[in-house]
Amino acid sequence: MASKRDYYEILSVTKDADTGAIKASYKKLAIKYHPDKNPGDKEAEERFKEAAEAYGVLCDEKKRAQYDRFGHAGVQGGAGGGAEGFSNFEDIFSAFGDIFGGNFTGRQGGGRGRSGPPRGQDLQISLTVTLPDVSAGVTKKVKLKRYNKCGTCAGQGGTGKQVCNVCAGQGQVRQVQSSFFGQIVNVTTCPECQGIGSLIKAKCANCHGGGRIQEEVTLSIDVPPGVEETNYLTLRGEGHAGPQGGPSGDLIVAIKEAEDDFFERRGVDLYSQVEVPYTTVALGGDIRVRTIDGEVDLKIPSGTQSEKLMRLKSKGLPDINGHQRGSQYVKLHVHTPDNLSAREIEVLRELEKVQEQDHPKSFFQKAKTFFT
Ligand SMILES: [Zn+2]
Ligand SMILES: [Zn+2]
Repeated sequence: MASKRDYYEILSVTKDADTGAIKASYKKLAIKYHPDKNPGDKEAEERFKEAAEAYGVLCDEKKRAQYDRFGHAGVQGGAGGGAEGFSNFEDIFSAFGDIFGGNFTGRQGGGRGRSGPPRGQDLQISLTVTLPDVSAGVTKKVKLKRYNKCGTCAGQGGTGKQVCNVCAGQGQVRQVQSSFFGQIVNVTTCPECQGIGSLIKAKCANCHGGGRIQEEVTLSIDVPPGVEETNYLTLRGEGHAGPQGGPSGDLIVAIKEAEDDFFERRGVDLYSQVEVPYTTVALGGDIRVRTIDGEVDLKIPSGTQSEKLMRLKSKGLPDINGHQRGSQYVKLHVHTPDNLSAREIEVLRELEKVQEQDHPKSFFQKAKTFFT
């Protein structure tokens, strides 16, 4: 697909449509454009794929939020095209199992099933990052259990591989049924080969014919700067190995953000608070302020009031595209001293006298104001 249509437009739903409405609309389109009902019709096939892709995004709360914010760029790799789109089909068709039957792998090709062993399953993990990680980017080592290709048989499952005679290598068997919606082709996993499409004569002793074994692996995952909770990374081919040499699924990494003790994040901006001596806000001066990557001096002009929000430009977080950084906003709280020394009391008494002469009471009076 060259230029992508709007997902809401594809499914003919409004931007605020609920999951039920999206599902209903998708169901209608899926039935109308299903390849089994439109053999050899490229246009229908495109419509079918397009609807499935739109559904894959809009029925997923996180992906939908990403799409609403960033458009197609926000969900690329998630429900894009190719293998990803196909993996979505499985979810969709198991959701609609009552109509299409169980195991639809989503391959069309003019009504013919797939060839070769099926793709391995996607793996999903969540990865917690801190705000300094978000600021600088981070490489995280992750341990996970997954199916890896069996080394003994190079993933083949053994020797003497034969095409399954029940499904002729398709991995699926089809039944035509009449239903309320018209003629429906019911596709189910071949019971003889369990969907693999081939049978092994001499099974590998290590993997018992599956061509894959469960192993613990350690992966390095590069998390780019600027990620947030709604983001996920797709590591192609890092999911489960497929059975008997089938291609590997993907590893989907959902980003979680750890709570930070000092900073509150609002998009690319950070918010923090500092206590400032009253002499500094009155006379002006520099204070040390903690930022996400070290301390900086912040200049306080004389006569600055308490609760003032100061801005440190470019001291926030980078945006995900790496173009610019947000700001850090620092809220000043004027600290009232509570354990004065005798000398301080003396000086303050003196100051009090001077203030009463120079600013007689005027600054105690404040207009009715907002309390937030
Ligand atoms: Zn093996
Ligand atoms: Zn079979």
